[in-house]
Amino acid sequence: MADEPATLVVPADEIAARVSELGAALSRDYEGRRPLLVAVLVGSLPFLSDLVRAIDIPIEVDFLGLSRFGEGGRIRIALDTAESVEGRHVVIVEDIIDTGLTLTVLRRMLEERGAASVATATLVDKTRRRLVDVPIEYRGFEVGDEYLIGYGLDWKGHYRNLDSLWAVLDMERLVEDPAALHDQFYPTQVERRH
Ligand code: 5GP
Repeated sequence: MADEPATLVVPADEIAARVSELGAALSRDYEGRRPLLVAVLVGSLPFLSDLVRAIDIPIEVDFLGLSRFGEGGRIRIALDTAESVEGRHVVIVEDIIDTGLTLTVLRRMLEERGAASVATATLVDKTRRRLVDVPIEYRGFEVGDEYLIGYGLDWKGHYRNLDSLWAVLDMERLVEDPAALHDQFYPTQVERRH
């Protein structure tokens, strides 16, 4: 459908296959170390949910909520982990790495808190938009510059529950009306715009 405002980038079955591979790699690399997976809320939740079930060694899961301010990448912890990361082998679980600024701050913070090791698993990597060089040990997919939605990724809180990854073609429309893609993605929904 050429006139649709969003286009499919990664279908659900390809996401599932890749997440299985990442789970197998983590299981192999962290055997005997019971890693602490720290998921960055909210966008990483579908990825986390599938990833943990693809891991076949003992693990623990925790959550971190961040607030971002402006363009400068300044971040603040809005919700801290329940567990201490001291002495733990931490795997940050992220939805998408863009400039890399958030991840850089987060890695430094976890290292300062005494984590035994810190690695990152991200579903999506926008490699070309990187502003800072930051290591990414487990990467699902490399993508271009487009704004992505679905499988956890949102626009103003919408579209997180799509099972595939989509690129927004008409960003202006979405800026004007965050629900502009509801007709494409939720066709049976009787629209109540709020
Ligand atoms: P950065 O790497 O620039 O510090 O920021 C990464 C964050 O920017 C992600 O966690 C996500 O919240 C947001 N982000 C970057 N690119 C996209 C995108 O294409 N789609 C969505 N939904 N969020 C994005």
